[in-house]
Amino acid sequence: MERRAVAIRGLVQGVGFRPFVYHLASDLNLGGFVRNHPGGVQVEIEGEGASLDRFLRQLTTDPPPAARILDLSWEPQPPRGDTYFHIDVSDCAASGSVLITPDVATCQQCLAELLDPRDRRYRYPFLNCTHCGPRLTIVTAAPYDRPRTSMAGFPMCPACRREYDDPSDRRFHAQPTACPVCGPTLALLDASGHPIPCDDPVRFVAKALRQGQIVAVKGLGGYHLFCDARSAAAVAELRRRKHRDEKPFAVMPADLESAEALCVLGPLERELLASPRRPIVLALKRTPFPLAGQVAPANPRLGILLPYTPLHHLLMRQTDRTPLVATSGNRSDEPIAFQEPDAIDQLCGIADLFLTHNRPIQVRCDDSVTQVIAGVECPLRRSRGDAPCPIPLPLTCPHPILAVGGQLKATFALGRDREAILSHHLGDLDHYAAYRAFERDVELYQRLFDHHPLSIAHDLHPDYASTRYAKSLAKEGRCKSVAVQHHHAHLVSCLAENGVSEPAIGITFDGTGLGTDGAVWGGEFLVGDYRQFRRAAHLRYVGMPGGDRAVREPWRMAMAHLVDCGRPPGPLVQRLPTASLRAVRAMLEGHVNSPWTSSAGRLFDAVASLAGVRDCVSYEGQAAMQLEWLAATVEQDGTYPFELAESDGTTTIDTRPLINTVADDADQGVPAPRIARRFHSTLVQIMVQTCDKIRRTTGLGAVVLSGGVFMNSLLTTEAVAALQGAGLRVYRHRLVPPNDGGLSLGQVAIAAARLGETP
Ligand code: ZN
Ligand code: ZN
Ligand code: FE
Repeated sequence: MERRAVAIRGLVQGVGFRPFVYHLASDLNLGGFVRNHPGGVQVEIEGEGASLDRFLRQLTTDPPPAARILDLSWEPQPPRGDTYFHIDVSDCAASGSVLITPDVATCQQCLAELLDPRDRRYRYPFLNCTHCGPRLTIVTAAPYDRPRTSMAGFPMCPACRREYDDPSDRRFHAQPTACPVCGPTLALLDASGHPIPCDDPVRFVAKALRQGQIVAVKGLGGYHLFCDARSAAAVAELRRRKHRDEKPFAVMPADLESAEALCVLGPLERELLASPRRPIVLALKRTPFPLAGQVAPANPRLGILLPYTPLHHLLMRQTDRTPLVATSGNRSDEPIAFQEPDAIDQLCGIADLFLTHNRPIQVRCDDSVTQVIAGVECPLRRSRGDAPCPIPLPLTCPHPILAVGGQLKATFALGRDREAILSHHLGDLDHYAAYRAFERDVELYQRLFDHHPLSIAHDLHPDYASTRYAKSLAKEGRCKSVAVQHHHAHLVSCLAENGVSEPAIGITFDGTGLGTDGAVWGGEFLVGDYRQFRRAAHLRYVGMPGGDRAVREPWRMAMAHLVDCGRPPGPLVQRLPTASLRAVRAMLEGHVNSPWTSSAGRLFDAVASLAGVRDCVSYEGQAAMQLEWLAATVEQDGTYPFELAESDGTTTIDTRPLINTVADDADQGVPAPRIARRFHSTLVQIMVQTCDKIRRTTGLGAVVLSGGVFMNSLLTTEAVAALQGAGLRVYRHRLVPPNDGGLSLGQVAIAAARLGETP
């Protein structure tokens, strides 16, 4: 007989881990116990060595769906003669640090109950268990138990209480458990928010959807707007009411099989769609496309997500598996609505009906968005289903650190020991409602995780709302502030999530980020580690006429690059008013309101405009995306010229030869897809040659790819292949987005490294 004490860290509390361990140990005839422990679960097992080995193997190969084991270690103990296994519940409430897990999609067993007419939860839209259901979106305080969630107002009935108290039941300590007797209920409201008396709101709504109506449905982290994705009229009407011209809508098919009918799915895409995280997955549309074209106009891809709440499953069944547009319930670009009566106010005039309920949402949490690039997941938005899952750090935080992220696609992060907890997506902090949620949720996370930061890391940009927040806390003397350069944070976010400890070349290509010289950076080759960086190379500076206006009007960047080349406005003359062209040229020549930029995102914009693809955009990144899609329609077709110029140890990538040739191509009527294709190949060549040059002087062989430009699948795929072909080790994002949603992770790691060196 042997005895082992096993420590398991990660997301192992509140996910049915103890019952799982109990059943596993009992099946193997082991003695001992399992109990919750701060930061994880503690197990002691006693039995034959071979059975103990099997236990440990199965623990990691077959854990409950929502569990995530970050670390498992064990040590031998003197046997005590235990022959029975039990769940020790003595300290689970006392520890006060039960981890909050992400929200989890309805599990198979709950789904079976939902559809079983003999079950007491048949067609009950709020059923859940220890393995599934709402988590982060219903918590109000720590420790995580029912009185500190949205379920506080729903005392359990005796039947639910029995399940909750039974260690062998799959609802043992399932905080949000509920049934038709004791739990939340649906309500149906008309277009102006007045209740409609109705016995079966799901059936009512399903009928309305089939008739082409638009319905706001309260979900886990906010409201969705649903309509029939096959109805051109319904989709067009939704666009009109939402004031959303072209930005694609996501679609919810009933199941994987229906998803396959809409998009071409590889094994990883299928796995992501069906995972308990249930993100929106971007995938190539099928041709002919079986849904209304207006769902994702002029876009080869579609975002799809599978039903993840019992209510979604019921709606799907009741609509005969109609694929539904499932877009965030907001007015144009405002943050997604989540609290009544705000939600009803905000969506009045958009929704024909509201399907809502009386379980309050505590944390606004958008759907996560992800995609697969060359066989690897590349998250675009890490939110519902992912947050607040911790990310292991390859270095130790000397004390608790708060990182407040950037301005757009905002997230914040709490660093402690060797872990960072990344928040859900908070959106664009320019919106007052988003900023208020940011402030509120920073405080909520600090309470939930009992986190009291001594340092606060923020971007260099003084006008980011997050920077001002950080500085105000530092001013109150609550903690010390650490300013982090934007692209250094990108570089380190990628190093950190890959657990890389060597210094690396960081190719950080994005839209905008403030540089240490006051210019707008975004086409950077940094050389650095967690503590520091040097700017080894960057794209040549051009003016950014009108600042942020240049982001919405790519033709301004085309003009900036043409002026840089000393060329006339060329193809722009036919499409844009002469007065505008003249005004922008004057701004550039006089350096008026035209900050210098090395942004790769803006170079995409310039080329898109020069190639005649797009002069203005209706959403961020639109021109660059269109350029990518066009490029993907043709074969590789050579590159454009560029030059690497050296001064004071920094390389400038001269884009003038590139722009000159692009403009020549456009003048000669070369089709846009070919220009787009050559441009992509040119960027890859720029990356390879520049990295090769940096490697020769620094000896560094590791390259990380970060920044929003690396959401570009074509560019990333070819860059990875070419850089690896040149003998470089390439790291890219898998856990956090390459865009600004990942900044807070980089900031935490940089602060940890810098603060670690001072005693
Ligand atoms: Zn379940
Ligand atoms: Zn009940
Ligand atoms: Fe950025």
